[in-house]
Amino acid sequence: MMYLKVAIPRPLDRLFDYEYSEDDHGVISLGDWVAVPFGRSRLVGCVVEIKHDKPTLPEGVKLKAVTEKISSDFSLPSELVQICKFGAEYYQYPIGEAFFSAMPPSPEKELGTRKVKSKEIKVKEINLNDEQRLVVNTVEEKLALGSNPVFLLEGITGSGKTEVYIELAKKRLSEGKSVLILVPEIALTAQLRDRFENSLGNPVALWHSALAEGLRQVQWKKIKTGEIKVVIGARSAVFAPMKNLGLIVVDEEHDQTYKQEERFRYQARDIAVYRAHLQKIPIILGSATPSLESIQRVKEGRYVHLRLNRRFSGQMLPEIKLISLSEEMLVINEKVKTPFAEKTVQIMQETIDRGEQVIVFLNRRGFSQFILCQDCGWIKECPQCSITLTHYQRKNELRCHVCGYHQHVPSDCEQCHSHELRGMGFGTESLEEELQLMLPDAKILRLDRDQITSQKRLEETLDDFRSGKSNILIGTQMLVKGHDFAKVTCVVVVSSDMLLKWPDFRASERALQTLTQVSGRAGRAELPGQVLIQGFDLDHTVIKVLQGEQSHESFIEEELLMRKELNYPPFSRFVRFRFQGKNESVLRKKVESIIERVLGESENDRSRMMGPSEALLFRANHEYRFDFYYKAPTIDALMKLSKKLKSMAEFEEIELIVDVDPYTS
Ligand code: ADP
Ligand code: ZN
Ligand code: ZN
Repeated sequence: MMYLKVAIPRPLDRLFDYEYSEDDHGVISLGDWVAVPFGRSRLVGCVVEIKHDKPTLPEGVKLKAVTEKISSDFSLPSELVQICKFGAEYYQYPIGEAFFSAMPPSPEKELGTRKVKSKEIKVKEINLNDEQRLVVNTVEEKLALGSNPVFLLEGITGSGKTEVYIELAKKRLSEGKSVLILVPEIALTAQLRDRFENSLGNPVALWHSALAEGLRQVQWKKIKTGEIKVVIGARSAVFAPMKNLGLIVVDEEHDQTYKQEERFRYQARDIAVYRAHLQKIPIILGSATPSLESIQRVKEGRYVHLRLNRRFSGQMLPEIKLISLSEEMLVINEKVKTPFAEKTVQIMQETIDRGEQVIVFLNRRGFSQFILCQDCGWIKECPQCSITLTHYQRKNELRCHVCGYHQHVPSDCEQCHSHELRGMGFGTESLEEELQLMLPDAKILRLDRDQITSQKRLEETLDDFRSGKSNILIGTQMLVKGHDFAKVTCVVVVSSDMLLKWPDFRASERALQTLTQVSGRAGRAELPGQVLIQGFDLDHTVIKVLQGEQSHESFIEEELLMRKELNYPPFSRFVRFRFQGKNESVLRKKVESIIERVLGESENDRSRMMGPSEALLFRANHEYRFDFYYKAPTIDALMKLSKKLKSMAEFEEIELIVDVDPYTS
């Protein structure tokens, strides 16, 4: 008889014991899926430990037996077992549910042998330029020496990073190894697949959650057997069962869509780095604007820095035009609530008249309100957190949603003493209608997450725009990632303030990343491009970097200094504890008493703890949410506090959601 520890898909932080007879069910290995009785139900879980000694169970608990072993075709490779265990521990997520992320679709039954259409692949050869060649050689030299470091490839948009990935992938394939490529958006994968297939002469599988189950199952098996050797996918592809993996690429490594924001809150880039380390293979993190986390690791000598400094085409980066909303004439129209300068509208019209296209970029999240001086662009930040204070109109109050600091809305600007303070947060939903009023003849398309529900719709919208059926495309973050539109020569950023004042310690870093990406959409082909940035505060460092008036390096130094002073990442492990409940006053009391106790017991670490405070979205799905943040000096400290708070929350019977390395507020 054998004894198994099984990861069961239930919200519990532990494994469960079962006995197993190889005579009855066949040989068992780590990573096998088994059906087991659990309470009154039958569940499928993953075998995480195998023992020959009978475990000691609490009195009265009877050891149950596995009812069935599921076909080994679907077993997880051992490294994925290891990765899921690590993920569950680090992200403080129930282990059985973490395994769910790596589970093949419906392992209990074959969903049919869907034939994957094979199409003709035209192999295209290119020659790398000197910069690219140098990067590839550096990587290959390190590998030849037997070291497998993390490489950070920093290269401006269009500098040819993708060609570098392709070249390195070719080498691994020629050694019989497989390659995993992560990209931030599924919207990008189709375009990239063709490029990889045609350069590698090898079929490439796309991996994302929107694929039909049957197809996913067929692919999963082909990847596991090594029949498919190249996978391009969004964040969940980090759990692909690659055979003989030889390289991982994480493109746009700074992108926050790598972080899963619900249930299992993992960061796919960080899991990828762990995976590469575990499997002793190289990993390339690529970006035009790397995350400060990765840059800091370069500074500490833990990552190898590689650079591409020129655009491959020699094409200039687009011209950046600043449009001051406090100085320019604004469009006056009762129905237009979003501030638009007359000049902006005029340039858009001229672009359309030339037969070229315009992209209008809007920050995705519009629910945060803040107070801004219309004359000098000043905004109030939290004195403790360096984070924009959020405006609550009802109470006429400014609040820090991180530490809970609050004050009355001041009557005048602390910088220029103007009385022109105004609440911001635009009527973004209506932007399409407003633009139509300003540009009556324009054909306008809109692309955002709420509206684009399927890959098909997304591709249709993009194709429509590319074919020139419309003049203007309005979109959010998902639009600006890597799409090539030859006829787009003008990109409009509706409000830089909305990006820069987002209440988050990463606001500046993110604004620069986003604006760099947005700018990269203008003037990709022969036509020169321009980027119009509208805003009240155009004196911001980020804008100066974008214009080339301040160096990127000095911006990074400033940011790192601020982060270090305030103990933010990359100098600490940030974690958010979110307490949820239906009854506001009961929840508030319980949270306050829990936190009071925790603060009392953590003298040395108190300055690293913030809150409790009402979450930015205080009420969602009929639940109230209070947040408590911890800037942990070490992972151990993080785990310790996390376990403590979990047991306190359980005792008080309130829901607690732990988010390690959170991005959104
Ligand atoms: P990035 O990934 O850094 O944005 P890409 O790899 O997409 O840049 O390169 C930008 C453009 O330049 C693409 O159209 C690509 O095909 C082309 N390109 C890059 N390197 C080469 C090369 N060595 N030879 C020919 N074309 C190249
Ligand atoms: Zn002012
Ligand atoms: Zn604060």
